[in-house]
Amino acid sequence: MRAHHNFIVRPRLPAPLAPLGVLALNLYWPRYYETAELFRCLSPELWEECGHNPVLFLRRLPQERLNAAAQDPYYIESLTQIYDPSWAAAHGMDGDAVIAYFSAEFGLNEALPIYAGGLGVLAGDHLKSASDLTLPLVGVGLLYRHGNFRQRLDSKDCQQEVYPFYDFYELPLELERDGDGNPLTVPVAFPEREVRVKIWKARAGRLHLYLLDSDCPENRETDRSITDTLYGGDLEKRIQQEILLGIGGMRALAALKIEPSVYHLNEGHSAFLVLEHIRRLQEKHGLDFATAFELAKASHIFTTHTPVPAGIDLFPPYLMDKYFTAYYQSLGLSRHEFLALGRQDPNNQQEPFNMAVLALRLSSWANGVSRLHGQTARKMWQSVWPNLPAEEVPISHVTNGVHITSWVGEAMLKLFDRHLGPSWRENQAKEETWAPVAKIPDWELWQAREKQRHALIKFAREKLARQLLNRGAALKDIEEARAALDPEALTIGFARRFAAYKRPALLFHDGERLKQILSDFRRPVQIIFAGKAHPQDEEGKKLINYILTQSRREEFKGKIIFLEDYDLNIARYLLQGVDLWLASPRRPLEACSTSGMKAVLNGALHISTLDGWWDEAWEPETGWAIGRGEVYDDPLYQDAVEAELLYDLLERDIIPLYYERDARGLPSGWLARVKKSIQAYAPVFNSRRMVEEYADKFYLPAARLYRRLHENDQQRARELARWKKGVEDSWSQVRIEKVEGTGTENLEVGDNLSIRAIIALGPLKPEDVRVAVYYGPVDGKGEIIAGEKLFLPSCQDLGGGRYLYTASLPCRRSGRQGYSLCVFPYHEDMGQPYAMGLILWG
Ligand SMILES: *Cc1c(COP(=O)(O)O)cnc(C)c1O
Repeated sequence: MRAHHNFIVRPRLPAPLAPLGVLALNLYWPRYYETAELFRCLSPELWEECGHNPVLFLRRLPQERLNAAAQDPYYIESLTQIYDPSWAAAHGMDGDAVIAYFSAEFGLNEALPIYAGGLGVLAGDHLKSASDLTLPLVGVGLLYRHGNFRQRLDSKDCQQEVYPFYDFYELPLELERDGDGNPLTVPVAFPEREVRVKIWKARAGRLHLYLLDSDCPENRETDRSITDTLYGGDLEKRIQQEILLGIGGMRALAALKIEPSVYHLNEGHSAFLVLEHIRRLQEKHGLDFATAFELAKASHIFTTHTPVPAGIDLFPPYLMDKYFTAYYQSLGLSRHEFLALGRQDPNNQQEPFNMAVLALRLSSWANGVSRLHGQTARKMWQSVWPNLPAEEVPISHVTNGVHITSWVGEAMLKLFDRHLGPSWRENQAKEETWAPVAKIPDWELWQAREKQRHALIKFAREKLARQLLNRGAALKDIEEARAALDPEALTIGFARRFAAYKRPALLFHDGERLKQILSDFRRPVQIIFAGKAHPQDEEGKKLINYILTQSRREEFKGKIIFLEDYDLNIARYLLQGVDLWLASPRRPLEACSTSGMKAVLNGALHISTLDGWWDEAWEPETGWAIGRGEVYDDPLYQDAVEAELLYDLLERDIIPLYYERDARGLPSGWLARVKKSIQAYAPVFNSRRMVEEYADKFYLPAARLYRRLHENDQQRARELARWKKGVEDSWSQVRIEKVEGTGTENLEVGDNLSIRAIIALGPLKPEDVRVAVYYGPVDGKGEIIAGEKLFLPSCQDLGGGRYLYTASLPCRRSGRQGYSLCVFPYHEDMGQPYAMGLILWG
């Protein structure tokens, strides 16, 4: 008989196991392996079946198994040792500064698949380190019903996308409710309707992450699916998602009574929040747009991750009209003024609305994610500040880092625990913490490395066999998969999103040469690939197909494999187990890349083109650089040259070094490099250093500025807005009348060059401006390269709004030099000196 009513009975968690329930709801476990083991050991098969989702796991576990664990003194002992209630307690949000961190994706744990790749994993690591540092931060994102797609490889070696359906009640999430116990929802205005969003809370250590979900019964059917997939759908869905993230996210924080004083925009997807922030300030304090603009801007930090214009969200004016007409009217703006906020050229009526431009115009602080990317971003966005030289575009950089204890394998962590002293985790960002690595005995390091490699090979074999079984492969192939790879061989890893610029097929450029490299049975080498292509990226999908077809060739069988459905779990095994991590992006298209950092922290060595982090990190004694950062006009030629260099490095340096064994059978030369690499990179490329840098450079100054501008009924914000208006109106009257250098002849190193400049400021006062001189060597075209800047402090009032400035330039280098004088507006309440983009050269 068919059941007419269904109900679910969950196992009851016995009282001694209560901490297990608390741990299950937290996405960040500071002691990851021990905590995962607490769950896994109760039923290893079920743990895998549940995709390492502890909430689902506890629901499905038989009651008897829980009862037995509750009575097992050893189990209870381990549980009490691992569970630290002080850590699990939410960070008190009652301090006056709260940082809201907005991101379209978060990769904290494989159980909550709301990430697509590097951006999300970085956001996850940011939250974990912020929790470690007890920073008062909250995350804001979207909760995707289908998560990110899962990758299936079909029998034709093509990627298929599968969209699972997640039941949020079976994930480590808690629904926010109102006083009556009903789901707390916030409204967001859409054309002719309102969309309501629910708020789910996830916990990341001490911190909360609030995730919005439009799947509410009050919404239209089509609106219920706005948050169903990550980066799926068309442009209109994209704008809808971004409205929910930015504007809905602000409303959610307000409904939760969280009043941030700093907003961090992790990429431009959330940039609409700046508008809602302005609108709220206007409404709350009765401010005009210009004043609310200054106030809001003081608290915004924008991190860009995209070195190519194609990666930026652009919305055509008709879509902006559809969704924002009522909104910009409520801000007191005309259509033109509003659209100009998102245009590189405010007067170009054709230009689409650019989310990165909106974020840049409305943030006091902006940064790229590596030194090289900072440079690239300054050039890329120079059009937003047309008068500034690229070096002065107000975008700095904070190089990404990774969360060490989430990424380093158990064997290597134990090694660090034994050798680095008790507080190495807290002191991980100090160089001296890692000095003892030099003294780790070779055999101990090699043992840890072998352990992690063996774990990877075991995992890869099982995974490969399973993925073949699922696609109906021949029994013989499945048997072969179980014996694929060699646990003792030099193992190369390449796993990341499959995008053409990352060049996953570079190793196959000369198939014959690769075959030679892989077929030396005395020095075996093998390669493991993994990675998804964006569903709309046909080129990326072709590359996956290409590698799969290659891996099937007789000479590569069992030596080149591709693991399906790259995620945090596969990443962990791969990055912990490989000996060599390969990256081959086309410079400068990789903003930073973090997988190489995870690999080197595990004692792998890194080989890459000089792009992203490797451009600032590479040293000849630690890893290998493919080329020296040359960029050729012909990409095919570039590929050929760099493939050649890659083969040379493998044949001449890497493989011989790996197989050069000493009397004890250890690769001592290789291990010496591993130690140097850990010492050089661990203190720098960790997310604790990164979050501390964000806090020092941006969060603290932003919170301070925001508070200051708020004081006395926003008096300083009003003054700042008024001052800016005044400067804009009178800037055309500022003139550099005369600049002269005395003694420009017969200068020798050590002499000083005197500069006198007469500047007419019109109605402005000397305190409204800064005068500086740029000087340095000039190239053939007369451009100052790597110039230095000197501010001119002294000025003499010549009457009539004219002032005399003098300076004395030290001549430190010989050769052809040049200088240029500039005047720009200055106010102490502006976050960045050049933020107004007004500058006069002479
Ligand atoms: C670290 C990581 C990434 C980022 O890799 P890149 O090197 O930046 O391409 C992507 N996906 C997963 C699962 C990761 O763990």
